[in-house]
Amino acid sequence: MELRTRLWIGGEWVDGSDRFPTVNPATEEVIAEIEEAGPEEVDAAVRSAREAFEDPAWRDMDPHRRAALLWRLADLVEENLSFIAEIETRDNGKPSFESAKVDLPFVVANFRYFAGWADKLSGDVIPVSGPFLNYTLREPIGVIGAIVPWNFPLNIASWKLAPALACGNAVILKPAEETPLTALLLGELALEAGFPPGIVNVIPGRGPVTGQAMVEHPGIDKIAFTGSTETGRIVMRTAAGSLKKVSLELGGKSPNVVFADADLEAAARGVTTGIFYGKGEVCAAGSRLLVQSSVKDEFMERLTERAASMTVGDPTHPKTRLGAIVSREQHQRVLSYIEAGISEGATLRTGGRPATVDGRGYFVEATVFDDVSPDMKIAREEIFGPVLASMAFEDLDDAVEQANRTIYGLAAGVWTRDVGQAHRFARGVRAGTVWVNTYNRYDPASPFGGFKQSGFGRDLGERALEEYTQIKSVWVALD
Ligand code: NAD
Repeated sequence: MELRTRLWIGGEWVDGSDRFPTVNPATEEVIAEIEEAGPEEVDAAVRSAREAFEDPAWRDMDPHRRAALLWRLADLVEENLSFIAEIETRDNGKPSFESAKVDLPFVVANFRYFAGWADKLSGDVIPVSGPFLNYTLREPIGVIGAIVPWNFPLNIASWKLAPALACGNAVILKPAEETPLTALLLGELALEAGFPPGIVNVIPGRGPVTGQAMVEHPGIDKIAFTGSTETGRIVMRTAAGSLKKVSLELGGKSPNVVFADADLEAAARGVTTGIFYGKGEVCAAGSRLLVQSSVKDEFMERLTERAASMTVGDPTHPKTRLGAIVSREQHQRVLSYIEAGISEGATLRTGGRPATVDGRGYFVEATVFDDVSPDMKIAREEIFGPVLASMAFEDLDDAVEQANRTIYGLAAGVWTRDVGQAHRFARGVRAGTVWVNTYNRYDPASPFGGFKQSGFGRDLGERALEEYTQIKSVWVALD
């Protein structure tokens, strides 16, 4: 494989109407100039996807064959894993360990999981009144516009692509402008796997240009979006123009709750990875720590020690666990939240400073704030960086109340040895995923998505099939 920089439309590399640079955030060097899809290219991608979707070669394809193509695509990603992982790390700044050992293996597993669904989509026979047979068909929606963020570029692309293709749709994928490189490789691999040209199109570009044109385009039947809550609002508003379907996976401010009876060492480890994995640029990051007051001092000491030992490093080094923040802009944003934490009176336990490797790069130290109050910015807003806001709670009711004191509802963690308490917390917290004595667990089979302003719709698992199919009810008179 080689680095690709042009648009992938109808199984061909084509030019865009503009260009933008993609930068390696660990070195501040421009990796490549990328072609950008303007409205004209978006239109060409829609035509290509529509034609491919209507073509009997795809429409009437035996579902077993669709399964085989998805399985082949998984194999191709696996065969090229080290190259793709290296590109992901250069484009995003995440450690090679994460790209090669976590993100990319998940992509492979995800395509395999949804390959298994391709020939298992069925409708129902419904007992209706009168001499009628009523049954449902589960049909693809058509052309899906997938708009994805920069934090897990290929991973989240696969969350949209795998179920969309398993259900028989055509896809136009727009990666984030910060991280367009691996999505382009995936487009090429889809053709090699045997998907007809036009079934997978990849069109990089800036959100307000390419993304906006996609959401406005009447030829796209559904937008599957992952990104910030702010952009999600714009997408939903714009989609109303053509009344296209929308699913939104948005931001979070997830609570990680430690009870006094927890295995505190395991909890300290889990809270650390919960916030610092992926540099904290994780929608489900456990960015609000709630610790039961009776163990607060002891726990904060353990945690601070762990956080302080997380030194930033060259993302390509196999031992690095804290990489570079994705862009200069995001770096500034994270630092401004740290300043807000300090000026609003939170106690800075460790970190808090920008860092570099060999004098370059957009790094930030692993940062832990203590004595945070719920009205502070760092307690309310999604920072999307390696910054933890810690608070105390008294009992279960207080923990649930504080955990729910947010506009978001993506995920939550709870650490306790009391089974009843764990389940009561899981019931009480308003979040799409709850982790008990663990954090950041994902599996292609388990649904993921938000409550409240973290969005609606579900990625992954059987539930994702509902996002990429529509139900047709057929009535047959029997007399
Ligand atoms: P973002 O909202 O800035 O961008 C996401 C995507 O939307 C990008 O491809 C961008 O180009 C595009 N976009 C921007 N403006 C647009 C517009 N007007 N119309 C159409 N598309 C537009 O988000 P980001 O900064 O790339 O990613 C970080 C955010 O994503 C965080 O808020 C994070 O919580 C969220 N996220 C959520 C999940 C989840 O599953 N819930 C997963 C990962 C990230």
